[in-house]
Amino acid sequence: MDILCSVVVPMYNEEAVARETYRRLTEVMEKIGCAYEIIFVNDGSRDRTAEILNEICDMDKRVKLVNFSRNFGHQIAITAGTDYASGQCVVIIDGDLQDPPELIPEMIEKWKSGYDVVYGKRISRKGETLFKKFTAAAYYRFLRSMTDVSIPVDTGDFRLIDRKVCDALKQVRERNRYVRGLISWLGFRQTAIEFEREERFAGETKYPLKKMVKLALDGITTFSYKPLKLASYIGSIISAVSFIYLIYVVVKRIFFPETVQPGWASILAVSLFFNGITLLMLGIIGEYIGRIYDEVKARPLYVVKNTRNFDNEK
Ligand code: UDP
Ligand code: MG
Repeated sequence: MDILCSVVVPMYNEEAVARETYRRLTEVMEKIGCAYEIIFVNDGSRDRTAEILNEICDMDKRVKLVNFSRNFGHQIAITAGTDYASGQCVVIIDGDLQDPPELIPEMIEKWKSGYDVVYGKRISRKGETLFKKFTAAAYYRFLRSMTDVSIPVDTGDFRLIDRKVCDALKQVRERNRYVRGLISWLGFRQTAIEFEREERFAGETKYPLKKMVKLALDGITTFSYKPLKLASYIGSIISAVSFIYLIYVVVKRIFFPETVQPGWASILAVSLFFNGITLLMLGIIGEYIGRIYDEVKARPLYVVKNTRNFDNEK
């Protein structure tokens, strides 16, 4: 069998898991018995991750390394991995062993039976906070209701993609990336494998709330205009209601002038409420404009410091 399978692994401050990830992945890939390459993308780690990955590269030429000049974020790291991958199929997997490598053989089987994308669907999550479980479940369902592209729920970036999907993905150079959504958008024949999400092997999450919110907003803004339409919906409802109220106030003022009461509370309430709505709408517009600005600048997605074990390296 002479296929090559690329495994893309983003790594950010993963010194505690790097060796174990390498060991588990190698074990699985050896069992499958096809040619493979493991591409670690070091996303500007500040701990010993780079050293460890370099040592692994010295030992094993099937392991390749793309070293970023700084932290560019998980989605960009995956993108770089797929840019550098040369296999007929490419597996994207987290570096913390939350996505079990033991699922890769099954993914490859599905791929061989004709699917172009095989994604892992989480049926449960171990060792994650209730807050994360709840927000994730709610978010994926909300996202589905917001977009016309059907992005499968409870699915992360753990997946196998065919070479043609990988090539198509390379054409999409959006800066604020939501890779799992982009792959859905590409189409092709897709199928799911269900799995239980493991606990992190070691270390702690590299997705603080701020990064989670950014990813969540990227998912919505890059696949939907609906938040922008919200302003016009809310605007029309409020205008209609205000108009009715206006007639009521004028009639009351003309025919029953003596009933006019001091109204600072109502004025204050109305003004605070509408200022809140206005600022919220401006914020939504801002989210889109910021992303348009990022696109217009057209900077490269990432900057590579150096690579290891690739052919024709500088
Ligand atoms: N990661 C990355 N850059 C970042 C944040 C995370 O490359 O800025 C990697 C991280 O090393 C891991 C994967 O992305 O391999 C998923 O991150 P993590 O496990 O921390 O996220 P969680 O599973 O908690 O959502
Ligand atoms: Mg994780």
